[in-house]
Amino acid sequence: MSTTVNSIEEEKNAMLKALRHSLSHIMAAAVLKMRPDAKIAFGPAVENGFYYDFDFGETPIGEAELKQLDKHMRTIIKARLPFVREEKSCEEAVRYLEDQGEPYKTEYAKELIELGKAVNGTLSFYTIGDFTDMCEGPHLEHTGQVPKACFKLDRISGSYWRGDEKRPMLTRIYGLAFASVKELKEYIEMRKRAKERDHRKLGEELDLFIQDVEVGVGLPLWMPNGTVLRDELEKWAQETEFLGGYQRVTTPSVTRKELYLRSGHVPYYEDSMYPSMPVDENDEYYLRPMCCPHHHKIYASRLRSYRDLPLRLCEYGDVFRYEKHGSLSGLLRVRAMCMNDAHIYCTPEQVESEFRAVINMYMMYYSHLRMGNFRVRLSLHDKNSDKFVDRYDDWEHSENIVRGVLDNLGVEYEEETGEAAFYGPKVDIQVKNLMGREETVSTCQLDFIMPDRFDLTYVDGNGDKKRPYILHRAPLSTHERMISFLIEFYGGAFPTWMAPVQVRLVPVNAAVFDYAQEIELLLHKNFFRVEVDDSNESFNKKIRNAVMRKIPNIWILGEKEKAENNITWRRYAVKEQQTVAGNTALEMLQKMRSERIMDNFGDVELPTI
Ligand SMILES: [Zn+2]
Ligand SMILES: [Zn+2]
Repeated sequence: MSTTVNSIEEEKNAMLKALRHSLSHIMAAAVLKMRPDAKIAFGPAVENGFYYDFDFGETPIGEAELKQLDKHMRTIIKARLPFVREEKSCEEAVRYLEDQGEPYKTEYAKELIELGKAVNGTLSFYTIGDFTDMCEGPHLEHTGQVPKACFKLDRISGSYWRGDEKRPMLTRIYGLAFASVKELKEYIEMRKRAKERDHRKLGEELDLFIQDVEVGVGLPLWMPNGTVLRDELEKWAQETEFLGGYQRVTTPSVTRKELYLRSGHVPYYEDSMYPSMPVDENDEYYLRPMCCPHHHKIYASRLRSYRDLPLRLCEYGDVFRYEKHGSLSGLLRVRAMCMNDAHIYCTPEQVESEFRAVINMYMMYYSHLRMGNFRVRLSLHDKNSDKFVDRYDDWEHSENIVRGVLDNLGVEYEEETGEAAFYGPKVDIQVKNLMGREETVSTCQLDFIMPDRFDLTYVDGNGDKKRPYILHRAPLSTHERMISFLIEFYGGAFPTWMAPVQVRLVPVNAAVFDYAQEIELLLHKNFFRVEVDDSNESFNKKIRNAVMRKIPNIWILGEKEKAENNITWRRYAVKEQQTVAGNTALEMLQKMRSERIMDNFGDVELPTI
């Protein structure tokens, strides 16, 4: 990107910020017209608009009053009032705010003065019409510069003064604001879509998972439908890993403190772990936050020769992490999860090819799942931070390996300093959620520290003991995180191979129920998840119900189909239907399953037999 483009972009962002922030002044001025006794607090620009916090005393403003507030704001905008700047000495500023009866602004002014942030011993104030606010700016020149229809008052929430729950609860009014009407509309549309596709909402509607207070927060219970999704991903991982030369292991979810002292998780990772439990006499156990130490122990349990390497150990392992109550959210942030984990132990000569195979595996999964909207981040250590193990040459060497692999594969990536794991560089797959926010869906790490800590060795061709490298990888992330993304990307409509119900049979009347049962038995015997809708609902209602459940395949069975041994196939969200011979239809389904065809996308056609 050239500098000119950058500076144009920066200028645009600065303008937008000034617009949003100016709107918060305009809103505060309008609020004071309606509620002259309200006390003002903070009113910044935010990523989608602006807000302002007010203390309304006993009777906070309600959503019903937003319309009136909007009208007042538009009057102020029409009046083309200039933002007039004035500087007051510290003393004057505090006295002025006290006289105005503004306790929050007074407190903040005193704090700025104390911190030495009063520039040249003054604080700046901005006035529009009869509303004056202590503020640093910048703003528009006058209120008339607000483009028509580019903002919308959004919602009201509670918010503690300075975010401190011991301080007063204020009322926060949010507004959306963009540079143009088009962008505002697009944002509202995107938010609506994200809301409809929210995995918590769809998880409930499609019976995928539940949460129960008696079980505990952040501990989802997977329903039969959700468990199908897990099983299908797991089956796919098992096949992929089998072909990739991995071996499956099984290790326990609780373990002694000694193991984590060795790995360094205690004390370095302790904040993210459940507290320890006393067991037996003088012994402490932890729920494990990751599988690595267990796998290292399996490696260390036998004498390893260079001929045994690479050794690839994999496990879909249950892990437990202590996340703060407030940060828990649906399946995205949980306290118990199941990870597509594996550790590859290899010689220095093998690191590059192993890393390449792992990155290829990531790309295969993500392109197959059509999660094209991801970014690869190469996370490096930071020389100036004590967060990272102090072995400069090793860092340099392993970072070069990872960079070289990405370059050779032609993978586009961005480097970020200071984002590495404490034991080595990592590649992060960053996926944008439906609101455009980036989340790390999975990572792959090159580790040169744990082999030391666990004294892992192999005997090389000369009979000398050497340290292996370890690759940590989890391309399909945790079931929880991965499935939360997939639910939202697919809007709950899964491809046939994953779908909890793969085929719903819809007999058009009772005369063909027997034919429906025959087909049901055939599919069931072939391990397909099939349902018959033999309810008394009308045909149209039956189709609607199947569509509501986002079932990928509806097979319509009428008397003609029965007579000719056919089915009429209707796909989710595809208008045209086709009539196919029963046996052919079964073969097509089998192909869709074995090739994991992504038929939940309208542009993917059914296989031909
Ligand atoms: Zn301001
Ligand atoms: Zn690991």
